[in-house]
Amino acid sequence: MAFKKGRIISLMIVFLFLFTALSCAQEAKKETDPVIRHGVIDLKAIDENKDGKVFQDQMDWNVISDKPGKCPLCGMTLKEVTLEEAKEELINNDFKIKQ
Ligand SMILES: [Zn+2]
Repeated sequence: MAFKKGRIISLMIVFLFLFTALSCAQEAKKETDPVIRHGVIDLKAIDENKDGKVFQDQMDWNVISDKPGKCPLCGMTLKEVTLEEAKEELINNDFKIKQ
């Protein structure tokens, strides 16, 4: 009985370790996602197809893409906004943008 209990605990430790390693890897991937903008954000460069619109997350304002998709940080669907709207939200939320 004592042996069995010890085995269960060591299995749990292994699972915990795997889970931690996996979530760390996912965390690292999240941060390097190209739709997460850092530093001075150049909206005109993000708008690759030059239609004057981009897709922006409504929670993580620096998550901006030219294509529809989901935010890699919170999983929310990116909202289609004009460059002007995206710019306004970035300024309101203390992000730096290229004029
Ligand atoms: Zn988000």
